[in-house]
Amino acid sequence: MAHGGNNARPSLTNKLFDYGGVRRGDSPNYVRGITIRCGYCDAGKQELPVNSMATGFSESDKVELNWITDKLVKMGWKVGNTRMHHRCPRCFAAAKAAALQRSQAHEIEKKGLELVMAPAPTPISKPPREMQREDRRIILAKLEEVYVDERVGYGDGWTDQRIADDLGVPRAWVATLRQENFGEEKGNDQIKELVAAADKLSASLAAADTAYRAAAKEYERLADAARRMGTDLEAVRKALTGK
Ligand SMILES: [Zn+2]
Repeated sequence: MAHGGNNARPSLTNKLFDYGGVRRGDSPNYVRGITIRCGYCDAGKQELPVNSMATGFSESDKVELNWITDKLVKMGWKVGNTRMHHRCPRCFAAAKAAALQRSQAHEIEKKGLELVMAPAPTPISKPPREMQREDRRIILAKLEEVYVDERVGYGDGWTDQRIADDLGVPRAWVATLRQENFGEEKGNDQIKELVAAADKLSASLAAADTAYRAAAKEYERLADAARRMGTDLEAVRKALTGK
């Protein structure tokens, strides 16, 4: 058999498909073509006439294979690198659907994991609102009322936070207005009380320490006196008894 020419069996095409006569539509005549078979099911099969003369192809194996592949893909086939890997449109669609489902399942699994891993959901907070003139006015009025002066600071245990809680405004607004118009957030009575308590405790400790040292010293003095007295008494006893 002569090689070359349009009827030669292109090796690439031959490797992937059954090469031979196929029928074009309802025509009883066989024409040159290929048959692709599904590598997964028995039912998937497609005949495709490949007339290199009519399609204007040269003998180029690769060009013909590309043409065949293109046609089959348009018909819904997946053309594999080996016969085993061909998939008929039905099997290919099913595989794609399964892959999609797998990736969706994976997404859901990932989402679920994220939910588990995520820190406790933060309570939905209202979007931060802008300080309005009215807010300014009531905060300044409150500061006027409870901030003594720059030297003393807050009076009566007031703090930025307490004002914020009292007025229902963000603490930052209070801090800003207080800083701009009054002074530092100092001198609040709570801190003063803590400092006073610490001072008192420290004084108590010093007093206790002094008392302890004095007691220890007194004890030593008495013990010493007792020892000396014992010695003296012994001398007296010796003198009296002559022993
Ligand atoms: Zn199939």
